[in-house]
Amino acid sequence: MNTTPTFFLLFRRGIPLVGIALSLTLILFYPASLGWALLVAVALAAEAGAAFNTGVLYLVKRQTTIRWDGYWLRTLRPLFKSMNLEELWLRSFCAWNNKRVSGAFSAKKARKVVVLLPHCIQLVECKSHVAENLQACFRCGKCVVDGATTAALKYNWDVRVSPRSRAAYTEARKSRPDLIIAIACSDRLVKGLIKLSEIPSYTIPLELPHGMCINTTFDFRRLSQLMTTFAEPCADSKIQPLQINTGT
Ligand code: SF4
Repeated sequence: MNTTPTFFLLFRRGIPLVGIALSLTLILFYPASLGWALLVAVALAAEAGAAFNTGVLYLVKRQTTIRWDGYWLRTLRPLFKSMNLEELWLRSFCAWNNKRVSGAFSAKKARKVVVLLPHCIQLVECKSHVAENLQACFRCGKCVVDGATTAALKYNWDVRVSPRSRAAYTEARKSRPDLIIAIACSDRLVKGLIKLSEIPSYTIPLELPHGMCINTTFDFRRLSQLMTTFAEPCADSKIQPLQINTGT
């Protein structure tokens, strides 16, 4: 499913802008409402403004912007879930996030990029311990971990395979990357974006040919293109095993 930001923006920008228009119209017809209607219009304009931040301004105000986007995402999610449009809603939000991240890194590449992969991309019958060490992959070509391992070795990508997205984000935060490229299901992607709002993250939704969490896959060519476009070439080996604190 290829999704654009349009669906999310229709509501994210549209509702506040309609509210502003209604407030100003009210002032025209009921001048007595000037005080509070103007106040509402100004508040809505300030809130809607965050939905127009792009480029460097987006990077600077990212945390505030994501926080507001998150409110809209969570508030309207039950509605779209009831209409069977939840996946479209989440993916559209991710697409909007990706568009702004692309704009922010189009002029200046990121020095440090971390790629987060979910453990469910590994073939379920495979016994190699790729979550502990990506190089444990035998590179048999039966799942997309093969391509990720090859690229990590060849181009020194910092790739981490994680059985738990929360642990993956916690680990990623510690290494302070300029950019995260996260691959996961839509639900995990939006949670990660909101939880780790201080670090720009580009998202690639998983493909689920066998259902949730089993032998999933993703568009590896897209990841390669993103790394070429956004990441500075890296000289040092960056293959990283995910450190999980089992005591928490
Ligand atoms: S490519 Fe690697 S992780 Fe995937 S099934 Fe083969 S050995 Fe296992």
